[in-house]
Amino acid sequence: MDGSCVFCKIIAGEIPSKKLFEDEHVTVIHDVNPAAKTHLLVMPKRHYGDILALDDEALAARLHGAIQRAARESGVAGGGFRVISNCGADGGQTVPHLHYHILGGENLGPKLL
Ligand code: 5GP
Ligand code: ZN
Repeated sequence: MDGSCVFCKIIAGEIPSKKLFEDEHVTVIHDVNPAAKTHLLVMPKRHYGDILALDDEALAARLHGAIQRAARESGVAGGGFRVISNCGADGGQTVPHLHYHILGGENLGPKLL
C-alpha cells in the first residue's frame, strides 16, 4: 500500500469505484473518465509503479487471466477490444500504479500501429 497512490486507495476501499470484480491479487474497475463505451482498468492489488517494476511472473499470469475474464464478463470479448499499459512520461502514464486499460464495446477507430 502506497499511501499517496490513488489506485492503492481504491483497492483499499478508501476511494469509491465501480468494480467489475476482484480476487485475492487483482482488482478490475471501470475508468472514471471512459475513453470508450467500455473502459476497464486491470491492476494488481500490490503496488507496482509500472510494467517495468513487475517482477512476479505468477502475478503477471494472474493479470493476464484477469484481462481475459474482464473482457468476457464485460461483454467486449465478442466484438473485440484493445489492451494498453501506458508507462512513464513518454507513454503518458498519469497514475503510477501498474494498470492495463481494456477498451471496447464499440469500434475503436484508427489504430496507433
Ligand atoms: P494512465 O494515464 O496512467 O494510463 O491511466 C490512468 C487512468 O486512471 C485514466 O484513464 C483515468 O481516467 C483513471 N483514473 C484516475 N483516477 C481515477 C479514479 O479515482 N477512479 C477511477 N475509476 N479511475 C481513475
Ligand atoms: Zn498503488
